[in-house]
Amino acid sequence: TDMFESLSDRLSGILDSLTRRGALSDADVTAALREVRRALIEADVSLDVVRSFTDKVKNRAVGHEVVKSVTPGQMVVKIVHDQLVEMLGAEGEPIDLNAPAPVAIMMVGLQGSGKTTTSGKIALRLTKRDKRKVLMASLDTRRPAAQEQLKVLGEQTGIDTLPIIAGQSPTQIAKRAESAARLGGYDVVILDTAGRTHIDEPLMVEMAEIKAIANPHEILLVADSLTGQDAVNLAKSFDERVGITGLVLTRMDGDGRGGAALSMRAVTGKPVKLIGTGEKADALEEFHPARIADRILG
Ligand code: GDP
Repeated sequence: TDMFESLSDRLSGILDSLTRRGALSDADVTAALREVRRALIEADVSLDVVRSFTDKVKNRAVGHEVVKSVTPGQMVVKIVHDQLVEMLGAEGEPIDLNAPAPVAIMMVGLQGSGKTTTSGKIALRLTKRDKRKVLMASLDTRRPAAQEQLKVLGEQTGIDTLPIIAGQSPTQIAKRAESAARLGGYDVVILDTAGRTHIDEPLMVEMAEIKAIANPHEILLVADSLTGQDAVNLAKSFDERVGITGLVLTRMDGDGRGGAALSMRAVTGKPVKLIGTGEKADALEEFHPARIADRILG
């Protein structure tokens, strides 16, 4: 792709004048990695991750034979690309429903990250594609319109939502959702939790309480891919305090460069399971590491 070539061109400029030998030397790779580092930082990859990444690339690249059909620059880009794909993790890791029904999926994240929208998208996908019977419940008692928002979303997409009872706490709603899902013969219950504008202690306590009650099989952190470094700290905190099973990156239709995906994956070790690519209910896609790698190398 074009994106792939732009870094390749930059590296070729550096390397082709330096080397015509058979194998990449330490000095060549070090020079190339300066450009790679710049590309990663521009793509909003966190500095710690950039450092460990470039170390890995260096180990892999120094002494590597340059095959005849490519330039040294292209060779380095290929090694960088392969290492990115490796660190981004597996292709399209599915939501794990392998547990006794009703399987609870808990959605966590900051306010405005796309939690409610993504809950609806996942519910629709599990209903349409996987033929599961899905119930959605909003546990967001902080934002007055939040429960109503999920209800409307359910009506628009034909997904059942837990009836709203005013005055209940998030854990009370979680309990009610579980029994409603069990009695109603649902396969899956999606719990859309409350967010905050930033991470704080009460939020983490609330998430831990809901987790203890709902015993979710999946805890998916929904993060806005455009928020860059903040998303990395967010993922780290949620994983340490609540424990997540996977990531969903929203707004991948925007002009974010994908660096957040690499950083969050590297910091938590948890797979990116899905990406949000728009506001519509079907704008949810599988994660393709090679595409994100191309984007990062832009
Ligand atoms: P919540 O506060 O985390 O529940 O966030 P919402 O689900 O209410 O989403 C906030 C806004 O982001 C809404 O206007 C959504 O339509 C929008 N949104 C969510 N996901 C995406 C996405 O993948 N791409 C785009 N472009 N917009 C999104």
